[in-house]
Amino acid sequence: MSDTRTVASGMVVTMHYKLTLDDGQMVDSSEGQDPLAYLQGAQQIVPGLEKAMEGRAVGDKFDVIVTPAEGYGERIDDAVQTVQRNQFPEDAELREGLQFQAMDQDENPLIGTIQKIEGEAVTVDFNHVLAGQNLNFAVEVVEVREPTDEESSHGHAHGAGGPEQ
Ligand code: ZN
Repeated sequence: MSDTRTVASGMVVTMHYKLTLDDGQMVDSSEGQDPLAYLQGAQQIVPGLEKAMEGRAVGDKFDVIVTPAEGYGERIDDAVQTVQRNQFPEDAELREGLQFQAMDQDENPLIGTIQKIEGEAVTVDFNHVLAGQNLNFAVEVVEVREPTDEESSHGHAHGAGGPEQ
């Protein structure tokens, strides 16, 4: 009996993937690890990739280019801000390139990257590190299955690279 299940909203999908940027830099890959399991339609992967997964069958291999608008967003100049060093914990060892977690006005977590330190002035980029980038995914669909009751009620996939709880 052949496996005719295809990717649709509410299905648990297991996939191998490779993510490279336009300059060829590989930023993420499941190679040599368990494939990634996620729940289709639950916004656990970037929108452009989730859209490209719809209707795919087990064994499908394909490449998709996800634009910033459907990936991690465009870069926003206003998201680069200069803050005072004393706004960081006293014992924080600040250096350029350091990433740290902060909260926005709505108490949502966001990641800041220190761009520059000049005296007491610390320039922080709050853009996602992949903002403004095309995301070049190479995908192989490994498994498509119905979620367990537990996965449905949790709203995410378990096992094979997914959260265990
Ligand atoms: Zn769970």
